Amino acid sequence: MPHPSEQPNSSDLIRARTTLGDFELTILSDGWYLLDGGAMFGVVPKTLWQKRAPADDDNRILLGLNTVIVRTGRHTIAIETGIGNKLPPKLRDIYAAKEQLPLAFATAQIRPEEIDIVINSHLHFDHSGWNTTQTPDGRIVPTFPNARYFAHRGEVEHGHLQLERDAISYISENYDPLVASGQMTLVDTRPAEITPIVPGISVECFPGHTAQLLAVHIESAGGHACYISDLIPTSAHLDTTWVMGYDLDPVRSIAERHRFYARAIPERWMVLFTHDHQQPCGQISLNEKNKPVLQAAP
Ligand SMILES: [Zn+2]
Repeated sequence: MPHPSEQPNSSDLIRARTTLGDFELTILSDGWYLLDGGAMFGVVPKTLWQKRAPADDDNRILLGLNTVIVRTGRHTIAIETGIGNKLPPKLRDIYAAKEQLPLAFATAQIRPEEIDIVINSHLHFDHSGWNTTQTPDGRIVPTFPNARYFAHRGEVEHGHLQLERDAISYISENYDPLVASGQMTLVDTRPAEITPIVPGISVECFPGHTAQLLAVHIESAGGHACYISDLIPTSAHLDTTWVMGYDLDPVRSIAERHRFYARAIPERWMVLFTHDHQQPCGQISLNEKNKPVLQAAP
């Protein structure tokens, strides 16, 4: 399995730059990490998934952490904020967290102060980690001081329950301080419902991975992109039944993928993948066997 270099170069940090209508999209990376391939592909046998996602000697596959910056002309939006710098030492070791999102911002010449909207698809620590930054003296401060943050109310409530199954996925310092200060707005978007955030940007609830997973729609001048988050984490997960072992409701994930493809394929959406380091975006079409496949971005 080829690993990117330990010392990130600018293409490791900036995974893609493209336009959508009048909007400018930049895909930044908080780094690549390694996760167990079996967990990432649930009940799919390794003999099948390893053809698309080669595993290392410890059965781990390479994943990315993609943050999408959207400049609409009126707003500068950050979708998702990577792993961050607050992991407990044991988890930091397991994930070999790169903590490179601030460097990616600097390399792309985007200042954190410019971000006026942050959207979290859900509040797992690998999606909301840089919402806040731990300073060298141990304080927790907002990484984006001028931003309004948006997340689903149900995610905050679920995180607070600290359930046996997924307590480890929620680090309250990623959201509690922002809710307390009023900087984070909690939405109540119900399944299949769409909530507008700012012109051209809205969120839609696709349950399955978590009960309130939000996808982010980006629409400008007839173009449509969608950050589909952990409903379809990488382009190796396009088959409707190749859902993750992490999903709380995998059967729902399969149904929600059908609902997503029913629009994304005929309307030729640009699909943005949260954990695909190699192919962070592309269009999906059906092959001769009627299976969804990726057409790499032009
Ligand atoms: Zn994830």
